[in-house]
Amino acid sequence: MNDSIAGQVLLAAPDQQLVAGVLARQPRALAKAITLAESTRRDHQARAEQVLAALLPHTGKAIRVGISGAPGAGKSTFIEVLGLHLIECGHRVAVLAVDPSSTLSGGSILGDKTRMEKLSTHPNAFIRPSPSGGSLGGVAEKTREAMLVCEAAGFDVIIVETVGVGQSETTVAGMVDAFVLLQLPNAGDDLQAIKKGIVELADLVVINKADIDPRAAASARQHFEGALSLLRSASAAWRPTVLTLSALTGEGVANFWQEIERHRTTLEASGELAAKRRRQAIDWMWTLIDGELRNRFRHHEGVRQDLEKVSRCVTAGSMTPAAAAHRLLGHLQND
Ligand code: GDP
Repeated sequence: MNDSIAGQVLLAAPDQQLVAGVLARQPRALAKAITLAESTRRDHQARAEQVLAALLPHTGKAIRVGISGAPGAGKSTFIEVLGLHLIECGHRVAVLAVDPSSTLSGGSILGDKTRMEKLSTHPNAFIRPSPSGGSLGGVAEKTREAMLVCEAAGFDVIIVETVGVGQSETTVAGMVDAFVLLQLPNAGDDLQAIKKGIVELADLVVINKADIDPRAAASARQHFEGALSLLRSASAAWRPTVLTLSALTGEGVANFWQEIERHRTTLEASGELAAKRRRQAIDWMWTLIDGELRNRFRHHEGVRQDLEKVSRCVTAGSMTPAAAAHRLLGHLQND
């Protein structure tokens, strides 16, 4: 970034300590910095922004992997066995979750620590449940920030888990290097994902629970390979692949990671990884701008006074939506 606009990071003493603690890989500092970033208080947000700016030069070195799949597909079993395998290979693994429904259901996909019993207590692992940010945008924003804090704390593999509902897959695919879709070998399950357009996002499709019925798993694999061959790949260098494995027995897990490494090497060699991350950073900036503008609009005094009346006119058919939007947005110009 251009130094003249990057600005100087001036931190208060406690925040300097926090940054130093994160860089020294202290678990308490890591958790505290993420809590600060997740806070909705304005003063906390201002501090978090400074802390993140100070941490930024120490980020970006991790492999970022998104894992999605319907409830019951085996995500937590898979992440536990994968995480332990990676730690054995010398990695440090952070697992974050994006689950916008957690605010409604009261429980997050990672809220229950027993889901990854061994991994959650391992000193080289860090597991963070989904922030309860309300909207998907809010949750995703906090998760991106948590990802940067984890990278600054020396985690070299970041796994972002999400459930196979709504828009969360698209959002997670937009913050990782490799997006993985975890599927069951049932007939019909593959059709769901293809219909919902999630397969287009996948760099890797994993058919889990292959131990139950290896033939069904092999047939599901063929289905997906067929479906993927019809899609235009988002990458010029990488063609999405399909693997079968068993998270329960661990068979195929090492092979899975080799495939993730091959994906990374391929994208690095073609220059696509750097381009992808640059694009993601710009998209993130715009997401934040959109969110803040919407926020200011909704809280604007003139808009608040006029909104109900204008909405009534639109529902009654006496004003077009375009005219209504024009009029409401006009309030912002009157400042
Ligand atoms: P999640 O909801 O996607 O996180 O799924 P879980 O990891 O909680 O798994 C759901 C159920 O499937 C649990 O009872 C797991 O023990 C089981 N399971 C997960 N992976 C496998 C597998 O590879 N083979 C078999 N047979 N069962 C599995």
